Amino acid sequence: MELYDITVIGGGPSGLFALFYAGLRGAKAKVIEALAELGGQLFALYPEKYIYDMPGFPAILARDLVTGCVEQAMQWPHAVCLEERVGNIAAREDGTFEIVTDKGSHFTRSIVLCSGIGAFTPRKLPAPTAASFEGRGVHYYAKNFDAFAGKRVVIVGGGDSALDYALALEPRAAHVLIVHRSKFRAHAHTVARVEQSTVEVRQPDHELLAVHGNGAVEAVTYVNRKSGEETTVACDAVLAALGFVSDVDQLRTWGIATEGTGVVVDPLTMQTSVKGIFAAGDIVAHPGKLKLIACGASEAAVAVSQAMAYLDPSGKVSTIHSSNLTLPISAKFGAAS
Ligand SMILES: Cc1cc2nc3c(=O)[nH]c(=O)nc-3n(C[C@H](O)[C@H](O)[C@H](O)COP(=O)(O)OP(=O)(O)OC[C@H]3O[C@@H](n4cnc5c(N)ncnc54)[C@H](O)[C@@H]3O)c2cc1C
Repeated sequence: MELYDITVIGGGPSGLFALFYAGLRGAKAKVIEALAELGGQLFALYPEKYIYDMPGFPAILARDLVTGCVEQAMQWPHAVCLEERVGNIAAREDGTFEIVTDKGSHFTRSIVLCSGIGAFTPRKLPAPTAASFEGRGVHYYAKNFDAFAGKRVVIVGGGDSALDYALALEPRAAHVLIVHRSKFRAHAHTVARVEQSTVEVRQPDHELLAVHGNGAVEAVTYVNRKSGEETTVACDAVLAALGFVSDVDQLRTWGIATEGTGVVVDPLTMQTSVKGIFAAGDIVAHPGKLKLIACGASEAAVAVSQAMAYLDPSGKVSTIHSSNLTLPISAKFGAAS
């Protein structure tokens, strides 16, 4: 039985930064990721999208950011377990934890939970006919934007994801229409960009009623809930961005307190209700929570620092500045030690 200091659950951007920080802190660390690739939502949901709100990067493709995060995290020989889903966590009598996955057991002295939105189960379109068009024009992710080139696309939803997709598809698609039942919930800047674009918008009070087609999507009908007016428009693809169903019920079975769709943490320490289990990223719930990559990274640094203090209470939780150290990657960039 090999015992790790820190086991990170989830290899998205928060988990990868937790791994980097664990390396910086000299911890023996491991990551367990359910998918076949590291990168979380960035790789699984929007690898082709530009990200505009990373410190130091005016614009960076999600897939390129993942490549950088992986390179940064894997400077140390951390153990990486892919295609392995955590099903249970059990505290052991000696204060360590057993993490049970679909492939076996892992043993660790502390845990940093970075499982994000969980198993990427998209919230489905309520329109009864939509299900029969899944994979034939109805999509819940847009991994490859070029697949929408020249198409008339109807996007359903009004959050950041829906509007980001609209802006990314606008230059490629023949036409983009957003249908949304309430006010947009996206960043004001994103909303302004959509308003200045050629994207057609039907919101608020508009809902998708039906998807039509013979084998593949050919049209949709939406309704204006206020006036009752129904409109049918021809289209080639429907992209629904209605959020994701959370796995939070599973976390409760692990004995971790949850609130809404997140894990309750003390925002000063990122400690969950279970001593020795910390959390960072989209999975956490605290009053100031922002579901952003930069915020997840900050939380991961705090979580790892606190985990180290938990493992060695005689040590201080102090800031480690990366330029104070010679990192494994330093040679590549010719940095002086
Ligand atoms: C379309 C879209 C556009 C976005 N654009 C931006 C943007 O421009 N800027 C920005 O800051 N944020 C953006 N976001 C949000 C950003 O992607 C998230 O805040 C970020 O991915 C959260 O990272 P995370 O590591 O906490 O979680 P995730 O990225 O969700 O990663 C969690 C990982 O944990 C794994 N996992 C879950 N459960 C288990 C389990 N039981 N066992 C093992 N592994 C598990 C998952 O497979 C996943 O890989 C966007 C999101 C979407 C959907």
